[in-house]
Parts: sequence; structure tokens; C-alpha cells
Amino acid sequence: MSLPIIDLRSDTLTKPTPSMLEAMFSAPVGDDVFGEDPTVNSLEQKLADMFGMEAGLFCPSGTMTNQIAIRLHTGPQQEVICHEYSHIYLYEAGGIMANSRASVKLLPGAYGKITATDIAAAISLDDVHACETSLISLENTMNKGGGSIYTLEEVRPIRQLCLQHGIKLHLDGARLFNALVVSGESTQAWGGEFDTISICLSKGLGCPVGSVLLGSKSDIKRARKIRKSFGGGMRQAGFLAAAGIYALDHHVDRLAEDHARARELGRVLENHPLIAEILPVPTNIVIARLQGITPADMLQKLEAQGIKAVRFGKDLVRFVTHLDFGDAHLIEFEARMGKIA
Ligand SMILES: *Cc1c(COP(=O)(O)O)cnc(C)c1O
Repeated sequence: MSLPIIDLRSDTLTKPTPSMLEAMFSAPVGDDVFGEDPTVNSLEQKLADMFGMEAGLFCPSGTMTNQIAIRLHTGPQQEVICHEYSHIYLYEAGGIMANSRASVKLLPGAYGKITATDIAAAISLDDVHACETSLISLENTMNKGGGSIYTLEEVRPIRQLCLQHGIKLHLDGARLFNALVVSGESTQAWGGEFDTISICLSKGLGCPVGSVLLGSKSDIKRARKIRKSFGGGMRQAGFLAAAGIYALDHHVDRLAEDHARARELGRVLENHPLIAEILPVPTNIVIARLQGITPADMLQKLEAQGIKAVRFGKDLVRFVTHLDFGDAHLIEFEARMGKIA
């Protein structure tokens, strides 16, 4: 008998709930390239208002919102400074170079985070030899840092540096709501610190598709044109935007449940003989360091028990909790882990 799969590869794997589907089916729509889709317009305005920013742009993916932001704020002979684990650098198919012909300066830092002090030492301005720093990009939560969280206290000195040197600040907030649910900090306060913010609706919020880029009216106007050139202008996209509106109303507070289950999952894993340690679990991402087994072999053992995870480095495996992973799945997960030796 084949077991129902417990799929913890990513929080992008969720299916829309019946209520979300209902909201999607009943959405009023129009042609968004003409600016005439009322549901897309409401989603963009709703998120912009939440963050106290002027405007928003609905896009097919978080890669597109990030890449548009990079294109807005950089160009040839300019660079973006970010952590060496950043999604924009590792997982966007070389887009910084391909889309913006810009360079990257990578910084190290614990749990995927960079500090104002390290950034200050890395910025290059009036130097004929150097690539000019025009953008700093942060990621919150930090995926490859184990879902780690930046606080406003850490961000503010970075913002000060940017203002001082005329450098733009972008936030890859694919999982920003996961961070805010934990820190209790407000969307308004976060909106005040960045030139642009990318928010994914298709991660923990449980939508089938979509991300929104937030920024000033003039940046979003330019972003709309860049989106068109990337092939991201969608037509009756309101059916998808409706899922986003539904998720913002119903799926934000519940992220705390994903975090609690992730901590439990970490506790189940940490005593397993094939696992050396579990990285701290501040949000919904659990990273296990293996011992005496390769990630490929571990994934095979997990798969044999109907559990899916991903390799996340030389000796690391990642598990992500989400909307479709409930308490019953957690109990079943523990039982199945007990069968792996
Ligand atoms: C998922 C993710 C994105 C965007 O990914 P898409 O699959 O293109 O939507 C961006 N940044 C981070 C940190 C992510 O985890």
C-alpha cells in the first residue's frame, strides 16, 4: 500500500483551500495590461496601504519582482551588495547579470544576515577601479539562513548608510509575513525603511501564483514597463490576485501554526541517530545537518517512508512546514521517522 506523501520540500507546494478557490472564481476581472483588472488593482493597493508605500505591482513570481527591483536600482558598472546565501544571487538563474548587466558583491554573515558595519566596509563609490554600489538587498526571512529573521533594529543602521550614500535598499520579503508574525513588528514600520519590497503570495500565504513589488509611484510606473519587457504583463489576472487578497485576510496570523509545527518537527529530528544537529528554527524552515549519511541517501530513506525534503548543502537537508501540513501530519511524520535507521 502506498502511503500518502508528506511533502516538506517547500511552502510553495500548497493547493488553494476551497474558500480561496471560491474567492478566485467570483473575482471581477479585466485586462490588467490596460490597467483594468479591478481585483489586481485592489490587491496592489491593499498591500501598498498595509506597508504605507505608494504603489504595488502584481507579478507572476518572486523572482520577477526581485529582478525588476534590481533592474530599477542598478545597471552596467553598478553592483548590488547582498549576503552570499541570497535568493537573488543563488536561485534566480544569474538574472542580476542577464537582466540588469550588473555585478554582485557577496558578504558572509551568520544565518544569512549582513550587518551595517560589514556593508559600510564593502560599499564602493567614487573609485575609478571599482563597480559603483547602487543597491543593497536584504532577505527576510532568510531562506538559506534557516528562516532567520532581521529586526528593525538591525535594518535601521543599514537604511541610514543607504540614505547617507544615495544607495537604494531592496527587501526580498518572500517570507516577510513569517518574520513579522514572530517579531510583532508592523508592516508600516517595515515599509518605511525600504525603497522596494517584494512579497510572495505563493509561499506560506498559500496562493497558487504571484508576488507583489511595492515602492514609490514613480518606481512602480517604471517597474510596470520593465515587467512588460520581461513578459510578465498578464491579462485577466484578477482570478489570481483574488487568492492574494483572500490570503492577506485569512492566512497571515496562521503562519504562527507553521512555526510551532516546524519547532516540533525539529525536536523529532534532533534526536535521530543520522542527524548531527538542527539549526535554530525561528520560523517555518528546518535545516538538519546529517551525520554518517549523504543528503542523497537520506532523501532516499525519507522517500521510502513517504516523506519528501530537499538537499540544502553538502551535509544539509531542508524541511519546510506549510498550510497543507497539519497536526495529524506531524504525528505521522514522527511515526515514519521512527522507522528510519
Ligand atoms: C521563493 C523565493 C523567492 C521567489 O521565488 P519564485 O519561485 O520566483 O516566486 C524569492 N526569494 C526567496 C527568499 C524565496 O524563498
